[in-house]
Amino acid sequence: MDDKKKYSDELFFRKKNAYDMMDERECARVSEFCDGYIDFLSTAKTERECVRYAVDVAVNNGFVKYDDALNLKPGDKFYKIQRNKAVVLGVIGKSDIKNGVNIVMAHIDAPRVDLKQNPLYEDSNVALFKTHYYGGIKKYQWTAIPLSLHGVVIKKDGESVEISIGEGEGDPVFTITDLLPHLAADQMTKKATEVVAGESLNILVGSRPFKDDDESQKIKLSVMDILNKKYGITEEDFMRADLEAVPAFPAKSVGFDQSLVGAYGQDDRVCAYSALMAALSLEAPNKTALCVLVDREEIGSMGNTGAQSRFIEYLLADLGDMLGGVPVRKIIQNSACLSADVNLAYDPNYPEVTEKMNTAFINGGVALSKYTGARGKSGTSEASAELIAKICGIFDSNGVCYQMGELGKVDQGGGGTVAQFVANLDMEVLDAGVPILSMHSPFEVSAKADVYMAYKAYATFMERY
Ligand code: MN
Ligand code: MN
Repeated sequence: MDDKKKYSDELFFRKKNAYDMMDERECARVSEFCDGYIDFLSTAKTERECVRYAVDVAVNNGFVKYDDALNLKPGDKFYKIQRNKAVVLGVIGKSDIKNGVNIVMAHIDAPRVDLKQNPLYEDSNVALFKTHYYGGIKKYQWTAIPLSLHGVVIKKDGESVEISIGEGEGDPVFTITDLLPHLAADQMTKKATEVVAGESLNILVGSRPFKDDDESQKIKLSVMDILNKKYGITEEDFMRADLEAVPAFPAKSVGFDQSLVGAYGQDDRVCAYSALMAALSLEAPNKTALCVLVDREEIGSMGNTGAQSRFIEYLLADLGDMLGGVPVRKIIQNSACLSADVNLAYDPNYPEVTEKMNTAFINGGVALSKYTGARGKSGTSEASAELIAKICGIFDSNGVCYQMGELGKVDQGGGGTVAQFVANLDMEVLDAGVPILSMHSPFEVSAKADVYMAYKAYATFMERY
């Protein structure tokens, strides 16, 4: 009997739990690491705020602003901002850049509700904002919760005004109303995609009429009066604005044991934060390491701040020019990338959408996906056996807990990441991210041990690949 058990231990693959791989000291590191993570989630709720956070910590850790005139040497650290919505942190390696760079790429945009360009109106004693949602949301999840408003308005004279209302102690919040159950008989029989219409995601922003004016829209006037006094803006300025409504509550520990994190925006700020901290931890890596935090992944990575933009390639070309005139194609061909994006965590409430053997679990560590896509692996790059072997090898040698994860049962649905765009450049790429429960909802859940293991995975990859 005993011998038989030993034999299967030798031949069978057994899923790991991160807590079995960590001693008390490392468990304390997990909790400390996630205190910083929780603080980040409550502070940086838009891509612009994430860029600012990343630059602040980079500067505090000796990173300098990128400039073509810099004469970068091994060990030098730089950051480069891409149009205020994406950012790259780099640490120059000892090895010639023609041997390639190691990239960890995560995205800092998250599903949300954007204001339209002419948003403010008054109807039946209340003032509201018209919106257009961004990314794949279940619209009904965004009603009847507190929302905050973040973004930037560029005034006619060119002055840029930062807006953030709803996060501070005494701040008001906003909300999208929902129908009372008493009168929701028709609504409750609708398909979930139709329960709340896109054009009904209007945000409640006021109700008190302005005094002493002949204007018929006195509530709208009162809201504009407040905005004008506080920010100096007029209604026309909404045209020149990026304004986003996001859940107003802060990130929290979840569970009696506080082993989980609940917050808005963890897809993909969990990987972005872990990658950022990994980049900060580097001293003088062998190969040049880049932490690339991109925008617009949730809508297909289009645009000049997304992963399909050539800004990443251009930066590598500039680095090649600076570091000995190496052609960018030589750098790219020898480079490798972890596409650091979240995966789904197996959810006991919804077992029917996943295939248990090939799904990532909470506390199983960083989840690696050989491929993403839908149907017959449509729309995905696929990491090779050779690449996975090499990456798992360095993870094993450094105590990184990892697991393989697939985005749902075959033919159930699917999804994609930035991996395919990186692969198209002719670079090695593997998806590696944190498993998430309630993905794309206003309150996503991750496990602290997995967040920490993602950080450890990214740091190990940047240092040793
Ligand atoms: Mn994502
Ligand atoms: Mn997503």
